Amino acid sequence: PIPPLAEVVGATAHVPLCSGGSVRYVNLDYAASAPALAAVAGAVQAALGQYASVHRGAGHHSQVTTVRYESARESVRAFVRGRIDDAVVFTRGTTDAINLAARATRGDVVVLDIEHHANLLPWTARERTGGSRVVRARSTIEGTLAALEAELAAAPAALLAVTAASNVTGEVLPIGRLAALAHRHGARILVDAAQLVAHRPVSMVSHGIDYLVFSGHKLYAPFGAGVLIGRADWLDAADPYLAGGGASAAVTLDDAASASVEWRSGAARHEAGSPNVLGAIAIAAACEALAGIGFETIGTHEAELLGRLDAGLAGIAGVELLRIFDDSTDRVGIAGFVVDGHAPREVAEHLSDTAGIGVRDGKFCAHPLLQRLGFPDGAVRASFGLGTGADDINRLVEALHRLQA
Ligand code: PMP
Repeated sequence: PIPPLAEVVGATAHVPLCSGGSVRYVNLDYAASAPALAAVAGAVQAALGQYASVHRGAGHHSQVTTVRYESARESVRAFVRGRIDDAVVFTRGTTDAINLAARATRGDVVVLDIEHHANLLPWTARERTGGSRVVRARSTIEGTLAALEAELAAAPAALLAVTAASNVTGEVLPIGRLAALAHRHGARILVDAAQLVAHRPVSMVSHGIDYLVFSGHKLYAPFGAGVLIGRADWLDAADPYLAGGGASAAVTLDDAASASVEWRSGAARHEAGSPNVLGAIAIAAACEALAGIGFETIGTHEAELLGRLDAGLAGIAGVELLRIFDDSTDRVGIAGFVVDGHAPREVAEHLSDTAGIGVRDGKFCAHPLLQRLGFPDGAVRASFGLGTGADDINRLVEALHRLQA
């Protein structure tokens, strides 16, 4: 038996079955949003107990909340081994963070065609500040690195924007090698770590990552907050992401229609408005909790469960696992698959209605990838994490066996 590694909120919740009765809910949709860790919920509860707006007041609670908010940046920096002078900007999530990065990037951006739309559309939508060049990933990681090398050698680019782990297949890309490749050609690298940070240790310093983005809700914290951490120069040179209070240091009205504004530098420049303090505190608590458990322990737990899941899926007739690369050697706790004879939605409904299991089905905001994998109508994705035990994987495998019986 492999027990869960940490306590998550809602672990004992029951859901109704179509046959009547109810069963403990099995969340196998961590890649969409992971349940909150109990430790994270505790930190949010504590913050709510001394709650006031940040950066504005002399009141005690305002000061305490400001300290918590600002120290959350340092927890994030320590968690991903950011440089001391990297800006840590709290955003609404990964999508928001990449849109901000896209506004701050001048020049061409090179991306792969296997990306989540969040790391594709902000680049392809850019017109004023540069173009985007989409490179077709090859059937191997080695071939893909060579294709990127050729693209960057052919014409200069400002940035290579790449995912660290696929949200469809879980395959992990070699971010250190990708960073070195980008730097060899004078480009910076932005890493979409939405699917990596809960599973593998990240070191911006030793991997050579210029910008890293991720979302709290995939890191055992609630929705609504994410991070962009990286080189401050481009961010300070960019227009503020939002115009408003907090981002401005001094404002004078010139006439009825215009204002002179001195914008702040650093994270505040891009965080106008009252920030999502609880979201930032929750992310910091998650970073600290994961560091406390340790990525060796997390990796072992995940590898055991993934081995069990893969073996189980391999024994079911008509189940095919999705894979981008023939030579990938590392995969986070994600299994994208199709079941012969059943539409993805049908499989997901069967799992929910008969076994109380939540999985994702569809195209995972990665339509070009699903097309290139040959499943333009979508697939099913089971994904897991710290609150998952062997029982949960067994229940999935048994339910799929029943579907194919
Ligand atoms: N990138 C990847 C790889 C993802 O998996 C996701 C979420 N599915 C995102 C970006 C977008 O994250 P968010 O919805 O939190 O902005």
